[in-house]
Order: sequence, then structure tokens, then C-alpha cells
Amino acid sequence: MVRYEIANLAARVRIPAVAIILYGLDMSKYFGTNGVRGKFEFLNPELTLRLAQAIGTYLGHGKIIVARDARLTGETLAHAVISGLQSVGCSVIDIGMASSPTAEFMIKKLDADGAIIITASHNPPEWNALKVVDGKGIAISKERGEGIEKLMDNVKSAEWNRVKNKTTYSNATEEHIEAIKKLVNADAIQKKKPKIVIDCANNTPALIAPTLFKELGCTVITINERIDGTFPGRPSEPTQENVKELLARVKKERADCGIAWDGDGDRVIFVDDKGEFVIGDRVFALSVLLRLNQIKETKKTSESIATTVATSIAIEEIGKQFGCKTYYTRIGAPYLCEAVIEYKAIMAGEEVGGVIWPELSLAKDGFLTAAKMVDAICERPLSAWLKQVPYYYNEKTKIECNDAQKAKIIAGMKDYAKKNKLQFIDIDGVRINFPDSWVIVRASGTENYVRIFAEAKEKENAMQLVEQYKRLAALELSD
Ligand code: MG
Repeated sequence: MVRYEIANLAARVRIPAVAIILYGLDMSKYFGTNGVRGKFEFLNPELTLRLAQAIGTYLGHGKIIVARDARLTGETLAHAVISGLQSVGCSVIDIGMASSPTAEFMIKKLDADGAIIITASHNPPEWNALKVVDGKGIAISKERGEGIEKLMDNVKSAEWNRVKNKTTYSNATEEHIEAIKKLVNADAIQKKKPKIVIDCANNTPALIAPTLFKELGCTVITINERIDGTFPGRPSEPTQENVKELLARVKKERADCGIAWDGDGDRVIFVDDKGEFVIGDRVFALSVLLRLNQIKETKKTSESIATTVATSIAIEEIGKQFGCKTYYTRIGAPYLCEAVIEYKAIMAGEEVGGVIWPELSLAKDGFLTAAKMVDAICERPLSAWLKQVPYYYNEKTKIECNDAQKAKIIAGMKDYAKKNKLQFIDIDGVRINFPDSWVIVRASGTENYVRIFAEAKEKENAMQLVEQYKRLAALELSD
């Protein structure tokens, strides 16, 4: 958590963080891949207010939606966000506690100029964050965040008689539910009444998911549905390890599937009818298959898909079957949003189960993804659908190193790929593609690691790839 520590040190000694970030290793003071994230001692009301003033200025002093999740620090940070926005002349629409995809969906609906969502997504409860989205629904990247940071010391307050009262809007979740219901075959779900177990993570998924699936006609069994900002049920990240209760419950209830979201509901994973955990990569791959099948039915031409360099080759393979081109982006939701616009992509997604359905919004929407899956399982079981998704084994490892070593490894990997005439993508780390496998060597943006991730048709091949590239990376450090 290098950026967090540097910024935290800067906040404590009250000097600009940039003065501590030597040699231009990282020019971003506060913004990471998707907003500003930190523990409460760092992301406190004082810093939050200053950030909100700069964000309000960056977004043109317009109409801004504010939402938060259930974290204990959410309310006090919401006050600071609202105050900061109002002080620079923004009109604030407070939608209260809501999931991230709900808040993002409301931007178009309310003709807003942007949104600030107070949520640390899948991080532990002591963390919080400001996710920022512009008026087009595009999440603010680290690069655009740097533009906001530059405004922080030169914020111009509104004249006293230009400060506007906030409005409260309480129908956001209901409107999001109605919009999702229109994008699935509600009649088929109503008829089939699939039995589903949903794990709401003690956070905002509990506000929307039980109602959505009951209204669609499912038989719904809920776990971790009580809102509690300490997340007593399970950690926020829906990893296989963290959703053991869901896995057991799906088997016990002989349910058609299990669904679990991360804390703010943009990421989703599934448990199939056989009780098997379905990783995010396969959730995205199956989402692509379902969408392309649907488009084929309506005889529309398929165009393109956007995904990050860390996502399974299964996506590209499925795309090819439908004549659809796959574009790769850097890792992070903002880059996916930007790619959807640039390539007019019909879908975008990432390996952790975040899927963007541009037919609704540019948000990664874990509820629409879940509703589409529930729609699909009315036709055939989830395990049967998954058989149509090409299967790849993946392996991962990491090497501990500092920023200078990270840069050395990545540069070395690029040289290696060039010298050996390998096909590679170097927009975020170095991803080397082989006919039936690939490997990526990438520096973590938040931790002192270089991560190595490989995927192959054979488990042994994936293992060999991570080992081989770990050795190559280590060699760069021994020079
Ligand atoms: Mg999230």
C-alpha cells in the first residue's frame, strides 16, 4: 500500500505528498486505479471535503449524485462530500445508501453531471473510498484524478448566495430494479421460479438483490442480508474462501444457483447447481456468450468486446465464434468504460466478475449480471451453460520487490519478448500470448509485488509458465 502510506505520511506531517514521492516514481497523490482509497485516519472528513471541492470543480460545478455504502465511516464522509460539493456551487442529489451500480445508473436517469460514491468496494470495513464518475458515466481514472488533485489547492468557493440546498432522492434502488427487470425475460423467470441462494455481504446488495429476485418470481434464500458496516458475515471480497457458507447452503437447499456480490455490488460470483464455485473470469465469459447469443437472435451485427489484459482468453475465443473483436485495456474499471466508448463495445468486463452491460449503463453491474444468469438458468442449468465456456487452468505467483525493481522486471520482460519475437501486449505489465496459453508479468499498483499470472489448456503448462517467468523475472533482479 505504498501510495496510501506516502499520502498518509504527508497528511500527518502536513506537507504535500508530492514532496515525499521522490524521483517521479508516482505523481498521483491520492487517486488510484479507481478513485481515492484509504483507512479513516487517511481518508478523513478534512481530506474528503477538499477532494469533493476539487471534484465538484472538475465536474463543472453541476448536478452531482452522492451515494454511500454501509461502512461505519460512510455517513461522516458523506457529510464532508456534500459540504465540499455545495461549497463550490454544485447541486447535490443525495440518494443515500445505495449500491455502486445503482448510483451509476442514476447519472443518466437524473441527467446528472457525475457521481461520488463512498465505498471501498471489496476492502475490509476499516477502509473507505471515493469512487468518482463523470456525467457520461465514465469512472475517473488515475490520470484524470491527477487533474483533480491539481485543482485541490486552487479551489474557488461559490459566492454565499450561490450555495444550493441538497435534494434527497429515495427511489434510486426501485428505479434500478425496474430497469433491470426490463432487460431479462421476466415471464420465463416467473414461470420457472428458480431457487436461488443470495449472499448480500451485509452491505448494499441487501438493499436491492432480495427485492429484485423476489419480484422476478424466484424462490429466494438470503444470507448476510442484515446491513452492518462491520461486515460480520464474511469479508467483502467474494472469493471462494470467503463464500463457504454460500457454497454449503446451495448444496443443502439443492438450489439452482448461489450468488454473492462484493461490498458495493459491482462484482458478482456464482455457485452452480452442482455446488461448484464459478470464478469471475468464467462469469464474464458466460455473460459474453449469453449476450452474443441474444444479439444473434435479433440479427444485429456484433461489434466488439473490451476486457483487461488479465482476463481469460476464453473471452476472445467466444467473441471469435460470433465474429466479434476483443480489445484489451489496462486493469481498472475506468479503462473499461473508456474502451466501451472508444470501440463501441457491446460488453466489457474484468477477471474478478465485474461486467459492464452498456445496454443499461457504463457501470459494472453485479445485479444485472446476476439477473441475466437467472434468466439463462431457466433454459438450462448453470453447470450446463458453463460447459460451453472454454476451460483454462490458471496459476499465479508473485515476487516481492520495490518500485525500482518493479520497473526493472517489466522492462526486462519486454526486452525478452522482443528478442524472442513473442507476441505481447505491454499496456499494463507485459502479457505474452501463445497459441493456447498466455502469461502476464505485472507490477501491482498498490502493493510491493510483481505478479505473474498464467493461463493454459493444461494445468501443467500453466504451472510451467508461471515458474519459467518467475525465474526470468528473478534474473532481472540478480543482474
Ligand atoms: Mg466493488
